[in-house]
Formats: sequence, C-alpha cells, structure tokens
Amino acid sequence: MTTPSPRPEILTITAYVAGESELPGANRTIKLSSNEGAFGVPPSARAAIIQAAESAYRYPDGGAERLREAIGRRWGLNPDRIVCGAGSDDLLYQFCLAYGGPGRDIIMSAHGFAIFHIAGTYAGSRVIKVPERNLTADLDAMLAAVSPATRLVFLANPNNPTGSMVPADDVARFRAALPPEVLLVLDSAYAEYVTDPAYDAGIKLVDATDNTVMTRTFSKVFGLGGMRIGWCYAPPGVIDVLNRVRGTFNVSVPAQAAAIAALAEPGWVEKSRTHNTEYRPKLTAGIQAAGLKVWPSEGNFVLVDLETTENANAADAFLRTNGIIVRKVGGYGLPHCLRVTVGTAEEVGLAVDAFTEFMRQSRG
Ligand SMILES: *Cc1c(COP(=O)(O)O)cnc(C)c1O
Repeated sequence: MTTPSPRPEILTITAYVAGESELPGANRTIKLSSNEGAFGVPPSARAAIIQAAESAYRYPDGGAERLREAIGRRWGLNPDRIVCGAGSDDLLYQFCLAYGGPGRDIIMSAHGFAIFHIAGTYAGSRVIKVPERNLTADLDAMLAAVSPATRLVFLANPNNPTGSMVPADDVARFRAALPPEVLLVLDSAYAEYVTDPAYDAGIKLVDATDNTVMTRTFSKVFGLGGMRIGWCYAPPGVIDVLNRVRGTFNVSVPAQAAAIAALAEPGWVEKSRTHNTEYRPKLTAGIQAAGLKVWPSEGNFVLVDLETTENANAADAFLRTNGIIVRKVGGYGLPHCLRVTVGTAEEVGLAVDAFTEFMRQSRG
C-alpha cells in the first residue's frame, strides 16, 4: 500500500527534545532544564496577558507594529529593520526556508543550537557541522568549510548548550572573511546574561553589513517562553524577504501585549542579570567543589562535564530522585555532560547539594 511520504531528508531529522517539566511522584519539581528566566513571568506581562483575553477574538496586528516600536526604543533600532516571530525559532526556520534549500549548504558548529540543524535539513539544505575547539565555535575551521554552495552560517553567541562566547572582534573578522552572498545569522538569545566586555550581541555588525542578521528572544531573560515571541534585526533586503514568507499572524494578541509590557517592567532585566551574575559563579563553584568540571558559561546555564556517559546518566538519575530536572545533551554530541539552568538562589543551592551528594556516594 502506498502512503503519503515526505521528502527523504525529513525522516533523517531527530525531533527536538525539550527539557522535561514534571517528575512523576515527586512532590516538588525543580525545573532547571530549559534555561527559562529564574523569576517567572514579569508582573506587568501577566496583567497584560489577562487583559488581552478581551481582544483574543480579533486577529493580531500581523506587522506587530507597537511591539516593533517598543523593541526599537529599547535597543535604539529602526523598527522597520525588525521582524517579530513566534519565538526566535520561527525566524530561524524562515531563514533556512528562504535562503537555504537543495544545493544550498548551511554551516554551524558541532555543538551549536539544535534548531539550526533541524530547520536547515527541513529546508532541504545540507547542514555541515564543523568541529569546535574547547567547546567553542572554531571560526577558522568554519571558514574552511565554506564552499560556493554555502548560503547560510549560524552562530549562537553565547551558544546553547556549551555556554561559550565568541568575542565581537572575532565575529567581525569572520563576517568580513565570509563571501558576501552568505547570510550570517547571529543567534543572541542569551545576550542579556553576558558579562564579558569583549561581547557584542550583533547590532553593530548588522548595521555595518548587508548580509548579517541578529535574532533575539523574549523566552529567556524576559520570562515569556510560553508566549512564543522572538525578533530579528536585519538589513532591508532580508526584512523584505521575511515579510513575504513569514506567517501573516505569527505573533498572537496576548504574546504581543505581554512582550510590550515586559519591556516596560521597571528593573526586570537588571534584576535578572544581577542575579545571574551572582549565581552563575556560585553554581559553577559549588559543582566544581563537588569534584566536577564545569565549562565556562556566558549564559543563564552551565554545562557540567561528568567525563563519561554512564556518569552523566547516573547523575541525572540521582538528581531526578531529588526532584531536580536538568538537561541531558546527548543529542548535541555531549552525552557525558548535563546542562543546568541558573535558577533561584534556593534552586542553585539544592542543585549544588545534589551534585555534592552524588559525588560523595559515587566515591563511597
Ligand atoms: C532558547 C534559545 C532560543 C530561543 O528560542 P525561542 O524560539 O525564542 O523560544 C534561541 N536560540 C538559542 C540558542 C536558545 O538557546
């Protein structure tokens, strides 16, 4: 019997594995598996979502004009150079579908964000994963992988799940060395958490070139992962393409209202960033003191290196029995590691205690 079948490459895609939320049987679950902000939903965004219920029978503003203006004011950008999406993942898909496709290669780093590979393969592109150095994108090696077929290069900066960051000067040199017909996508989902002064989220490079885009999200520091809002800053030619192909009403009424309110929430980003700047090192030092390697991170998460897959699986199982969910990253080619989100002060303490007890028991 003949049944409908997709293009063959679709069945090579491994479905994205999201961080789990619940542990059956645990009376309290501590979710440190999806890099969500530590402080929940901004109060004004919560109020805006409830208020938006009134107008949920209306289609949203397809152009997200008020939201783009609010983003423009916040970051000092021309709203005409912004496009919003249903999460930044939505925009990553649009880039792949519009600029990728059969015969159009995509380059990413070996442990780069999973959606680059999924969306690129979906578009029909060959997605080339370039080996990293010290779990950091190796820009020279990525350049060496460029061929006349290359059309897109993705760089998450900082990268998830490694936490590694590439300095702005290196990214600028990389851009200059890439062929002009290659679109460089800088995914800056964790920009707000970076403390290294050598970093830039990409705005300067987007302004200085006509072939670089930057994506951002409301899912992390703004505490709105469940609402699905992201945006990109891009040259006029790319904006024109996105507006032709994106979902007409891609950002819902409550999502637009929530994002506008979150931007206006006084001190929200500062509070979150200050917390992360204090507790990322505490989480790192606590797990190191337990006897484990922790990779340096510029995000709101750290990558714990347990050296073997067996150890990582055992630690994950132990954490679960203590009600703590972290993220296994075998799908990223890092089966010996676990990714742990920087939660509240209490959650960080409980995670450190659990790793410490795991190590004590595994020595004993
Ligand atoms: C979390 C994350 C995103 C955000 O995705 P949304 O679709 O905006 O929720 C994008 N890129 C990376 C690298 C991420 O870790």
